[in-house]
Amino acid sequence: MVLAESPARREVVQLFQRSFEQGRLGHAYLLSGESMSDIEAVARAVSQTVNCQSPNNTAPDGLPLDGCGHCVSCRKIAGDNHPDIQWLRPESKSRQIRIQQIVRRPESPPRVLTDLINLPPTEGRFKVAVLVWAERMTVEAGNSLLKSLEEPPQQTLFLLLTLAPDQVQETLVSRCLRLRATSGATNVVRDDEGLWVSEFARSAATAQQDVLARYRLIGSLADRWNSLKETVEEEQRERSPLSRHDEVPADLREQWEDELAAAVAGEIRHRREGYLRALQLWLRDVWMTCTGAENQAPTFPGLASESGVVAGRIASSDAMANLSLIEVALRRLDTNVQDLLTIEAALLRLKL
Ligand SMILES: [Zn+2]
Repeated sequence: MVLAESPARREVVQLFQRSFEQGRLGHAYLLSGESMSDIEAVARAVSQTVNCQSPNNTAPDGLPLDGCGHCVSCRKIAGDNHPDIQWLRPESKSRQIRIQQIVRRPESPPRVLTDLINLPPTEGRFKVAVLVWAERMTVEAGNSLLKSLEEPPQQTLFLLLTLAPDQVQETLVSRCLRLRATSGATNVVRDDEGLWVSEFARSAATAQQDVLARYRLIGSLADRWNSLKETVEEEQRERSPLSRHDEVPADLREQWEDELAAAVAGEIRHRREGYLRALQLWLRDVWMTCTGAENQAPTFPGLASESGVVAGRIASSDAMANLSLIEVALRRLDTNVQDLLTIEAALLRLKL
């Protein structure tokens, strides 16, 4: 339940749940996104999940699929006072994560990360090391973690959190499974998304409920999604360590391939969502026009006449229902072939 409630996007939560289900929990993850509090919430929920004492659901190997949020362990983790979960943040003075926070040194704080790494869990099933703002780790600190990330001690999970995955040391990134949690709240419309929305709006304004016209728009989205898949696969493969190393041990190769597949799935989903979010933003413009409220900042000022035509035809309750249709479709996206059917059903039901 704690995972299900996590405010960050479902894709990252689902990826975790899928790996729990398949008994393939990785040992190190790089979690990125647009809001650190969202990513921290995911990290906390994952820590609760792997350590929950009374989970509602468990995988075949006994690992919980979600935390209950109420047991002693879940409560301690929520309060950041579970002995097996250690949060490391940049020191306030240097604003860096420094080696003395990881390895015992005279100037170390009472608790260092290697204490957690080297000892068995005291209360929980898993020890979790959460490194917040991972891009602010000094090179020395990062290097001191490499061996643990490469040959992780039993029952240890590393979660590296960042808003700037490109700035995290490459040597660390290559040992982590990369997951991106997006809030979906940003109003940035990519060029291609904007083109498709314009096509959509113009057709809606002229062809109204013409089913054939609607199917043409769905076809055009399908084409965009297909080429997206190729582009994303290529982009991610280039970023994968697989593209830089020829001879790697089989298990490491398998891990990198898993990572690549997860990164591709996450990115495709993110980009598919982008098209629907963009359409939703236009439908929001329509709704604002319907309600007669002065729309100070339409997302698509260039489509004002199309928005006006559609708004003149439908009730504001219909305009509102359109927004929910897209929202529901967004929640059902799962990066598979069914996605197009989900979208088709939603797009055909829009009242325009
Ligand atoms: Zn619990």
